[in-house]
Amino acid sequence: MNPASRPSPVVPTVDLAAPGVRHGHLRLPYSRDDSAWGSVMIPITVVVGGEGPTALLTGGNHGDEYEGPAALFDLAQRLTPEAVSGRVIIVPAMNYPAFAAGTRTSPIDRGNLNRSFPGRPDGTVTEKIADYFTRHLVPLADIVLDFHSGGRTLDFVPYAAAHELPDKAQEARCFAAVAAFGAPYSMRMREIDAVGMYDTTVEEMGKVFVTTELGGGGTASARTIAIARRGVANVLRHAGILAGPPEPAASRFLDMPSDDCFVFAEEAGLVAFARDLGEEVSEGEVVALIHPIARTGLAPLAMRAKHGGILAARHFPGLVKPGDCLFVTATVEEAP
Ligand SMILES: [Zn+2]
Repeated sequence: MNPASRPSPVVPTVDLAAPGVRHGHLRLPYSRDDSAWGSVMIPITVVVGGEGPTALLTGGNHGDEYEGPAALFDLAQRLTPEAVSGRVIIVPAMNYPAFAAGTRTSPIDRGNLNRSFPGRPDGTVTEKIADYFTRHLVPLADIVLDFHSGGRTLDFVPYAAAHELPDKAQEARCFAAVAAFGAPYSMRMREIDAVGMYDTTVEEMGKVFVTTELGGGGTASARTIAIARRGVANVLRHAGILAGPPEPAASRFLDMPSDDCFVFAEEAGLVAFARDLGEEVSEGEVVALIHPIARTGLAPLAMRAKHGGILAARHFPGLVKPGDCLFVTATVEEAP
């Protein structure tokens, strides 16, 4: 049997189509020492109202990013079928084993869900989760919103984002949904390597896709949780699933025009930033010093911006290793 045509082992414990609201799980069999016939239980809520499109809302794709789960656990216990035209599928913690452990990747198989797409039905636990989304949940959706933030090792200015796409009409629909989200920043996002990402799989299926980076540091603030809650409601209004227009919000449009927007650490050490998130930086400016830590009297390594703009993301912990993404600059542009 071609592995990709094998049935998924994941079983939803609730009906994904019938009218009403249901809270249940995606049950993924996982046999292990402490539970011979055990399962991974990924929480899911399905709210089905009258006629309309389907939105798939996800958080916890990475397990140490909290704005999405905070907004989606909240929405799941408040949303009623009467308020919904269409269907809302909510999975607040996609990579549930990683989320429950508070880690980016799964403690079961070290799987990074957002590098495991399109997934495999006969693969690792993480690959099986990816495969279920690819073949069973994403095909149901017209619009997909996947929440991210920086996790324990990065911090971002809060933005919603879409990517440049070969289909310009689809790209325009994605950026319209990003604008509706109404985060303080809206980003045309460039990826370091898009292979294996949920984003890429969803976009290749022709869906309207919005992602976010809403903060980081392995926690969430009152401000960024409020941005996430308002953003998800705005996207549902934009899709016509909730009544009324999106709440207007001022948003600065950002672009990452080249790979030079990413700056990576080239030595280990103590990082001392000269700029904070959101501040303007010019090309060639020293944004951070990396101090060697084993002895005193050594000059720090100056890390310069290769691209002017604002500081959009930075390494969060105070110590860095060679290869760590140290910071990201993005240019402020007119909205498309
Ligand atoms: Zn993430």
